[in-house]
This record gives sequence, C-alpha cells and structure tokens, in this order.
Amino acid sequence: MQENQLIDPFGRIVDYVRISVTDRCDFRCVYCMAEHMTFLPKKELLTLEEIADVCDTFMELGTKKIRLTGGEPLVRRNIMHLISHLGAQVKNNNLEEITITTNGSQLHKFADSLFDAGVRRINVSIDTLDSEKFTQITRWGKLDTVLNGLRQAKQSGLKIKLNTVALKGINDDELSSMVLWAGEQGFDITIIEVMPMGDIGSENRLDQYMSVSEVEQKLSEKFTLIQSNHQSAGPARYVDIGETGQRVGFITPLTHNFCESCNRVRMTCTGQLYLCLGQDDNANLALALRSEGKKGLKEAIIEAIGRKPLGHDFAIERGSSNQAVSRHMSVTGG
Ligand code: SAM
Ligand code: SF4
Repeated sequence: MQENQLIDPFGRIVDYVRISVTDRCDFRCVYCMAEHMTFLPKKELLTLEEIADVCDTFMELGTKKIRLTGGEPLVRRNIMHLISHLGAQVKNNNLEEITITTNGSQLHKFADSLFDAGVRRINVSIDTLDSEKFTQITRWGKLDTVLNGLRQAKQSGLKIKLNTVALKGINDDELSSMVLWAGEQGFDITIIEVMPMGDIGSENRLDQYMSVSEVEQKLSEKFTLIQSNHQSAGPARYVDIGETGQRVGFITPLTHNFCESCNRVRMTCTGQLYLCLGQDDNANLALALRSEGKKGLKEAIIEAIGRKPLGHDFAIERGSSNQAVSRHMSVTGG
C-alpha cells in the first residue's frame, strides 16, 4: 500500500470517509429509530478535537472527501468548530470536499455558517411534503422548519440534494410530485430503500419496505426516464427525467449490489471504524489514538483497510430478522 493512498484487498481505493459525529437526534424517524431510544453516554463520544485528528490522519492517507452525518450532526454542541477545521483543510487543498447529511431541522440557523466555513453541498433528508405525514414519519419533526431551512440553505449558496426514503403506503403516492418539486427548487433528489439496520421497536421494516425498482416503474408512468452514466462518490445509480432535465438517483442496497465500486468507510461517534455498512467487522480507532497517538492511529487505519470485505448481504425477507445489522444507521451514519 502506498503511504498516501488506502487500497483495500480488492484493489479499491478508499478515499471517502463518513463520520457520525453523534448518535443523538431531534427526530425519531420510524425506519431509523425506536421512539424511546437509549443514547450513548456523552463521555463515550470522541471529542471534536479527536474527530479532527482522525480526519487529518485520513487526509494524510489520501482521503479526498469527508461527510459528517449522525444522528443529527447539527445538534452536536460546537459542531461548527469541526466543520470550520475541515473547511480550512479544503481551502488548503488537503481535502477536496466536506459535506454533511442533515435532517434540516437546524439549517435555518446554520446555513450561512456552513457556507462561510467552506461547505458547498449538503444532503437534506425529507420523505414527504405533507406536514401531517412528516410528523408521522419523523415523530418529532416539523415540516415547516425543514422547508425554511432549505430556503435558507439555498439562499446561502449551498447546493442541495434531497434524500427520500421510499416507504410503502406512506409516501409512495407522493414520490413523483416530490421529484417535480425538487426539480422546481433546483435540488437533486435520491430515493432510498429501507435498510435493515438497528432495532426500531414495534415498527416493522417489512411493512415499510418498497423496492426502488417499483418506484422507478411508477415514475416511468409519469415521466420519460433516461438511464444516465452520471457517477457520484456515493452508491446511487441515476436517471435523467426527459421532461425536466433533472437527475434522480436511486440507492438500492437490497435489490442491487453497489459494493464493487465501494470507496468508503465509516466511523461511529465512539471511534469505531466500520469497513462496510452491512458488516460488523470494525477497528477501534479511539483506542489506537488514545493509547498510541496519531502514529498508532495511522497504523490502525491501514491495518483495518486491509480487512475491508468485498460486500454485504442485506436481506429483508418474511420470517427473517427485522435487522441484518444490529447497530442503527444513526450510529454508523447513513
Ligand atoms: N439525521 C441526518 C438525516 O436524517 O439526514 C443524518 C443521519 S441519517 C441516519 C442519514 C440517512 O440515512 C437519512 O437520509 C435517512 O433517511 C437514512 N436512513 C436512516 N435509517 C435508514 C434505514 N433503516 N434505511 C434506509 N435509510 C435510512
Ligand atoms: Fe434522526 Fe436522521 Fe435517523 Fe431521522 S434518519 S431519526 S433524522 S438520524
């Protein structure tokens, strides 16, 4: 392995790191969390300085893109300290891009600061444009606050991509109008299948699950879908909508395998590095950093990349468990 590049056993260059900065969230989306969640004690979390050390070490190892996620990244206290640090690394050409994935609840407050810090693109998760359904899905969220946040973010100059989880019987009747609305606003949109991650209490993912192929079929009844060669750093596959010229992404972890081109790893807010979203093998970067400093951290990262598996084997099937992976998406970061 070259000193400044992480290459896994299958020859894939790993240059994209997603970091969950907190497992906490101000929403309780039905597919993501149980209503009454137990969160980690705050003292178990890496400090923002430690997360910055991990990011800097990844950059020394060739990481080009870092995405902060959660839980809700913008509810972590003083998160702008970390974002400003990473933004400065972009300005110094040590990093190509810093992005965040957010539920939008705090965007109205943070949009300008994010742009000033050097963030240029954000992903905002929104599953419906109906305020009652919005509260039904997020349990604790208010649609108006998120729409206001989106307006602010657009005004601040941030490029926005919406993430929408397809939910059978909940938002499936709305997805075409969401695609149109996103186009009118100048937002890209990616539609995601529910993944079996973490206990969600009494909710059943089998009831929620809707294949993205089905969504694509429904969209094709309204629009002309043109297969696109566009590729992003993420796992989405794209189509162009003939009528609007808009690009729509699909993330289909269950029905299609996006593992061959996987270029990423994920770190939890406690410093566990997961080599695959759908596998449990991990490396304890917190321990390496705290016991052996940045040198030990670097060695631990290189060793872990040498164990990155080829792929996952998610499945949501009748009779099978509701969760293929015990940790929640909010722990590993979506
Ligand atoms: N709180 C932020 C948000 O909602 O954007 C960031 C974290 S959230 C875990 C990241 C993304 O994962 C969101 O787009 C969310 O819809 C998605 N997500 C969460 N749980 C999921 C699941 N079980 N299956 C598919 N997507 C999920
Ligand atoms: Fe929170 Fe995001 Fe999970 Fe919804 S999807 S509960 S906003 S972490």
